[in-house]
Formats: sequence, structure tokens, C-alpha cells
Amino acid sequence: MEILKWRVLPLLSLLVSFLFFYIKTSSKSSTSDCSLLPYDDYWISSKRIVTPNGIISGAVEVKGGNIVSIVETEDLNEKFGSARVIDYGEAIVMPGLIDVHAHLDEPGRAEWEGFSSGTKAAAAGGITTLIDMPLNSHPSTISEETLRLKIEAAEDKLYVDVGFWGGLVPENAFNTSALEGLLNAGVLGLKSFMCPSGINDFPMTNSSHIKEGLHVLAKYKRPLLVHAEIQVDTESHRELQDGIGDARSYSTYLRTRPPSWEEAAVRELLTVTKDTRTGWPAEGAHLHIVHLSDARYSLDLIKEAKSNGDSLTVETCPHYLAFSAEEIQDGDTRFKCAPPIRDENNKEKLWEALMEGHIDMLSSDHSPTIPELKLFNEGDFLRAWGGISSLQFVLPVTWSYGKKYGMSLDQLASLWSERPAKLAGLEFKGAVATGNHADIVVWEPDAEFELDENHATYHKHPSISAYMGRRLSGRVLATFVRGNLVYSEGKHATTACGVPILAK
Ligand SMILES: [Zn+2]
Repeated sequence: MEILKWRVLPLLSLLVSFLFFYIKTSSKSSTSDCSLLPYDDYWISSKRIVTPNGIISGAVEVKGGNIVSIVETEDLNEKFGSARVIDYGEAIVMPGLIDVHAHLDEPGRAEWEGFSSGTKAAAAGGITTLIDMPLNSHPSTISEETLRLKIEAAEDKLYVDVGFWGGLVPENAFNTSALEGLLNAGVLGLKSFMCPSGINDFPMTNSSHIKEGLHVLAKYKRPLLVHAEIQVDTESHRELQDGIGDARSYSTYLRTRPPSWEEAAVRELLTVTKDTRTGWPAEGAHLHIVHLSDARYSLDLIKEAKSNGDSLTVETCPHYLAFSAEEIQDGDTRFKCAPPIRDENNKEKLWEALMEGHIDMLSSDHSPTIPELKLFNEGDFLRAWGGISSLQFVLPVTWSYGKKYGMSLDQLASLWSERPAKLAGLEFKGAVATGNHADIVVWEPDAEFELDENHATYHKHPSISAYMGRRLSGRVLATFVRGNLVYSEGKHATTACGVPILAK
């Protein structure tokens, strides 16, 4: 008996620990950890579902991460049977936002933002996919090898799906095999600057580099995104370089980057975008102008190029639509970005262009840093880091300001989901439609909230956001990414199950 005990007990405890280990590892990626729901087969119902065919009252059936059917209310009862239904009542069910312009700064500058905090903020803001910019991380994403470092840095940290833009820089622009290596490795397109980027390891390109880039991209049918500002040597700019002008004054900063910089860049770009026309040498490539601020001559040039058949789109950002130069206090560097936020009249013209469809889409240009680099003590607009933190707030901001201009829910879905999906080549995203990924945001348009320190904000440095202190309407209730309920009522799923999106 003694012998039996001596032999059996250790064996038994070994068996128990094996069993425990098995349960622990096998549950690591189970649905219940990736999602706040314990199942992946269910219906989402609401009186306001935004679909490509209009707003319907009904339900969306989700199975295995995809939308498998959409039904209108009158047909519901017979369909449901014993199915699980999450009823959101009057709340809006809309495609999750796709942010084509975010800087998450990892690897290398995770103290600025990072994949975990950035995608948690995205999920809490109703963004289901974001495309990370190739700069502000270190190294920049300019080769197959550096893309691999990005993907490694993102592992197990993504609460939403994340794609990557690669960088077009002088170093790789004339090296076709290097660019092809980067594109073959899966970047969704390329990004370049026509002025200094603010980061030394991401140098600017000229129009010959851009032309080369477009020719390589044509083969892959992927876009080139361009920061369109060229330093034009004006007299007021020279004065400022010489140290005349108060660096704390916003108007000083505004004079350092006049609209003529944007106009000069767009004018030059249009000499190469004509190659993208049907039958021309870069047919298949596409040029996308990021964060347009100048709503006057630059926009007129863009309209003209589009009407000539150039494959061209343009985005602007909520901060150009929400703020105007007149309201920016001297020394408040939270508002510094490039191109700068311009005057009230320009803002009105941007809204007009957006509502008339001349601006194709919106993006956050979430470009955070550590608070120290915003130089709040000095309030020096000329030396402070340029970039506005906004990722989590773009939906309520667009809605709060947009509803005054008559923005409809269909427009919101088109500007934030459908067109961004098209730009990034995301085949199964961008609309609540059968066959697509179940990437969905549920939100209450009339719920107001104060953006203060009591508001749960997941950006790494909420205090640097220009939106702090504003009152907004549009509260995100729930965010689904490929059927996983990744965020609901202030809570995130335990495991980050977003995936890197790589072009094939
Ligand atoms: Zn940017």
C-alpha cells in the first residue's frame, strides 16, 4: 500500500499539471479571450444600420468573423429562431472606421505611442483598421527587412487590424529591386515627403523620385501617398528664419508655412500624375495627397487634374475641419501640425469641398510624441514637435462638427470606411455588406461627453491632444473586428487578436 501511494501520487500530480498546462495553452487564443462575447455566431440588430444600400432597420448575421447575411426588420422573426441576438435599439450600426494615416511609432519610439496603446485607442474610438505610416518609428519602414521589424514589434499587441505603408525615399527610389522587395513583402503602398519630414532618417523626395515610385507601383496597382508641401523661399519666410517674429505666436508659425507651399507641391505633382492616366506609362498607379489644408488654389488644381483623368485622391483631417487659426492661443503647441491649421474662411471652404465630394476621405494623421517635445513651457511654435493626437476621437469629432454642415451617416461611412478601404486595397472591409469582415462600430450619435481627464483615453499621452477640454457628441458603445467584440462600454477584450494586413 505504501509503495502504491509512493508511485501513484507523483504520477497523478504529473498528470494533473499536464492537464492544467493543456487547458491554459489551448485557451490562449480561444474566442472568449479575443472577444468580449463567448461565441462567434450571432446577430447584431438595430433600427439604424448603415449599409451601401442605405440605412435599414434590421439585423446583421455574423458567423466565423464574417457578415453572412443582412435582413430587414419585417423578415426578422422567422430568421432568428433560437439564435443569439445583441439588440442595440436606436444606436447606429456602421462599418468600422478605417484610418489610412496613423503614426504608431514602434519599433524605436514606443514611448511616443506604440501598437498596444494606439490600437486600444483605435478600438475605443470605433476604428477597426488602421494603416501605419513608415516614419516616426525607428528604423523607418523603407525595406523588406524594416517591414519585418514592424511586424515583429506588432506581434500580440494589435487590438484592431493594422496594415503598413512603406517609405519612398531617395535611398530606394531609383532601386527598383529594393522597392519591389518592399512591395512583395506586403506594404499596401508607399509614402513620401516633398519637404523635410521632421525625422532625419526619412529624407524628402523630389518629383523624379516620385515619378520612379509611380512607375514601380503601377505594376502592383498600389498607391503613392504624398505629403504635399514644398519650401518656397518667400520674404516672410526669410524674415522668420532670421529670428524676427515671436515664436510663441501662432500667426508666426502660420507665416512659416503659407498655402503657397501646398500649391507649389500640388502643381509639381500634377506634372507626374498625368502618367497615371489610361494608356499612359504609369497606368495602374495612383497618387493620394495626404492631409490637405489649403482649400483654395491647391484644391482647384486637384479638381482640374481629376477632371483630366489623373488617378488622384485627396484626404483632409478632422483638425483642419474642427479648428481655425483665430482660436489658437499663443504658446498652445498642441495645435501645431504641418501643413498648419489655417483661418476660419479656409475651414469653411474645406467643409464645402468635403460636402461636395471634392475631398475624397478623412484620416486622423494621429502623430503623437512625448509631452516634453511639445515644449509647453516655452510655447515655442517653431521648435515644438508638429503633430496632433486624435486617434480615439475622430468619429465623435467628425460627427460633432459635421452635423452642423448637414453630414449624413452615409457620407460619414463613405469618408471614413468605404473610400479608405478602396485606397488601401482592402477587399473585404469598408462596408456592412454580406461577405465582408464583420468590422463594425456601434455608437450613439446624441450622447454627449466632456473630453477631460475623467474620460478614459487610451493614447499614451492624452494630455497633448488638441481636443482635450472640448465637448463632443457621438459615444462609441461597441467595436467588432472580424466578429470579435474587441471593445464594449469602456472594456477591451483580454487578448489582442488584430492581425497585420499584408498585400499579396
Ligand atoms: Zn502624418
